Amino acid sequence: MQNSPAARQAVVVGAGFAGAVTARELADHGYQVKILEHRAQIGGNMYDYPRDGVLTHLYGPHIFHTGNQKVFEYLSRFTRWVPYEHRVLGRIKGKYVPIPFNFRSMEELFPSEEAAMLREKLTAAYPGQDRVSVLDLVHNPDPDIARLGEFVFENVFVHYTAKQWGMPVEQVDTSVINRVPVVLGYDDRYFRDPIQMMPEQGFTPLFEAMLDHENITVELDTDARSRLTLTEDGRILLDGETFTGPVIYTGAPDELLDCRLGALPYRSLRLDFETLETDSFQPASVVNYPNEEDFTRITEFKKLTGQAMPGRTVILREYPAKYQPNTGMEAYYPIDSEESHALYQRYREEFARYGNLYFCGRLAEYRYYNMDAAVDAALRLSAELVK
Ligand SMILES: Cc1cc2nc3c(=O)[nH]c(=O)nc-3n(C[C@H](O)[C@H](O)[C@H](O)COP(=O)(O)OP(=O)(O)OC[C@H]3O[C@@H](n4cnc5c(N)ncnc54)[C@H](O)[C@@H]3O)c2cc1C
Repeated sequence: MQNSPAARQAVVVGAGFAGAVTARELADHGYQVKILEHRAQIGGNMYDYPRDGVLTHLYGPHIFHTGNQKVFEYLSRFTRWVPYEHRVLGRIKGKYVPIPFNFRSMEELFPSEEAAMLREKLTAAYPGQDRVSVLDLVHNPDPDIARLGEFVFENVFVHYTAKQWGMPVEQVDTSVINRVPVVLGYDDRYFRDPIQMMPEQGFTPLFEAMLDHENITVELDTDARSRLTLTEDGRILLDGETFTGPVIYTGAPDELLDCRLGALPYRSLRLDFETLETDSFQPASVVNYPNEEDFTRITEFKKLTGQAMPGRTVILREYPAKYQPNTGMEAYYPIDSEESHALYQRYREEFARYGNLYFCGRLAEYRYYNMDAAVDAALRLSAELVK
């Protein structure tokens, strides 16, 4: 890449949604864009591939859902979709029951008169409301509702949350617990967004179409840290030469500075895939195991993608794990705490002197982004850059 005219050149680090959308937008506006991606493939965490013939998500199951029409229309330029409404079951007390916990879950787990009584009480206690936080139930003055709250808290939340975050539930931010509500009705969809779809051919072809542009080059197996240098006087060097175009970084900010101020904490996952010679392994695409097992959930991929594959199926067990930088583990979930966000801010202050360095995406902004939010953030950043 020539460094002149620099304003029309850009470097993007990472080929997940944050990086790929920014790259495509800049390319569509005339920029020559170089993407540096340290994995062997594009697609970030959305990468999917045929495993023993079954379309499988290498970094855990990804379901597209959004209320953002603009994001949906944008992605629809690169894929056709198949409708898919995600429904999750939980294995609780030896039964499969809907998650989020709803009236049907109650009917599966309680004698019918008790379930009917609770249904009536809940409907009267929360008129016009279709969802409620489990903590609201626990603190309800009606002892029957509070007891139900405690049952759900104990059987659906406590152990799952402790496994997922590696800490007792009392230490987990309540916003995390409130992410999965209790449903006051029979709506058993896991997400409520009006748009719930899977890309017809998978996520990887969507990314291939997005990055198929004459102005975009992608360098795989390339850790950006081997190509970019941040100088003390606020310049960014690309392969030793000053680079003045925008550099969009979608990786972890602490790793860009070799964790100089300390490592940002993340949760990771050990992913255990298995191919089975059977038509079907479980009654839903995802079954949560909140209690006894070490894993949190099992995904059966062909039930997500609707793929017909008689006689064979691929499943994935997810074991939460502590993230250790530079060990080959993946940083999946930022850990919400005052200290972690304060450390993140200190990194951002370190980067303030680099006027052409931009942070975008789940790792770079240190926040849990769903795919649609990552795409939206990338569209907003690109709109600023091409002004
Ligand atoms: C297990 C799991 C399940 C999820 N399920 C869903 C779901 O069902 N629905 C949903 O909407 N969202 C889901 N998400 C969230 C989704 O993965 C994120 O929204 C999405 O990954 C954000 O895209 P991104 O580009 O910010 O990050 P990423 O997809 O992580 O992409 C970042 C890219 O940058 C690269 N990179 C990092 N550092 C460097 C470097 N130094 N040099 C070069 N390259 C680098 C990485 O290799 C990676 O490819 C899930 C997340 C996880 C962890």
